[in-house]
Amino acid sequence: MHVVYLKLDESVVNVCKTHQRCSRLGGSPSAECDWRWIIGVGVAVYESFQDLDDLRQRLDVVRAEILSRTGIEDAPRMAGFRSHGWHATKDGAEFAEPLLAELDRGATFKGHVRYLVSSVALDATKKNQAFDALFVSLLRVLMQRYRTWEQIDVVFEADQSPPSRYESIIAKARPGANVTVSAAPKGDAGLAMADYLLYATLKYVARVVECCQVQGCPVSHLPPNANSLTYSDEGGVQIEGHLTGGDYALRMYKTFVRNMSSVVEQGELLGQ
Ligand SMILES: [Zn+2]
Ligand SMILES: [Zn+2]
Repeated sequence: MHVVYLKLDESVVNVCKTHQRCSRLGGSPSAECDWRWIIGVGVAVYESFQDLDDLRQRLDVVRAEILSRTGIEDAPRMAGFRSHGWHATKDGAEFAEPLLAELDRGATFKGHVRYLVSSVALDATKKNQAFDALFVSLLRVLMQRYRTWEQIDVVFEADQSPPSRYESIIAKARPGANVTVSAAPKGDAGLAMADYLLYATLKYVARVVECCQVQGCPVSHLPPNANSLTYSDEGGVQIEGHLTGGDYALRMYKTFVRNMSSVVEQGELLGQ
């Protein structure tokens, strides 16, 4: 059967425009702090079961190598990694680097991200409304693109939401094809790609916002995607902007950019 697999995740990255690597993030801002919240949703799309299975098998090998490596068996992250696999916001370089290095050799998914930048902190209700609106916006495009397929298999990363939440998002996305929808816990490598590509994109946006101190800056702050990339003579990916080679957000995003089909900043979805 002709099935497309959509693995979805949601995330927020908080950043301070005043202070590089602001020490107050995660707590409360000082009077000088000028914070932004980058709120986003992302999807890893696998256009066949083969694509999904290939990725899982490759990452199973990488995961086994990390688990068997000596020197990091006592790392605080190890127990969580053993149980649930990769998690972008928690993984130190010893977990993230082998994954990124494997994906640098090519990946079998297409990534899409929708995000918005808020200058106010959203309470839980507004944040969920923002996520839902972003999911609907993203899925409308994908439902249209895959409308002739026999089945669209949609999996959200489980976060205690009731099934009615996901059913409502799918209904608003106006599917033309047969859709199955479910939520799954962390652990599957197919789903971990949604987590990672979303985090890489939001971190890229956050670091660019953090670095930019220019009023009316002419540099595009929107991350490039696979169609808007330029390459060096040696074939390396070139990304214009405020970030430099030593920036980990840039390093992460470079891994995913060749697989990113669309990255779109949404306007004021909530009328803020
Ligand atoms: Zn600050
Ligand atoms: Zn700028």
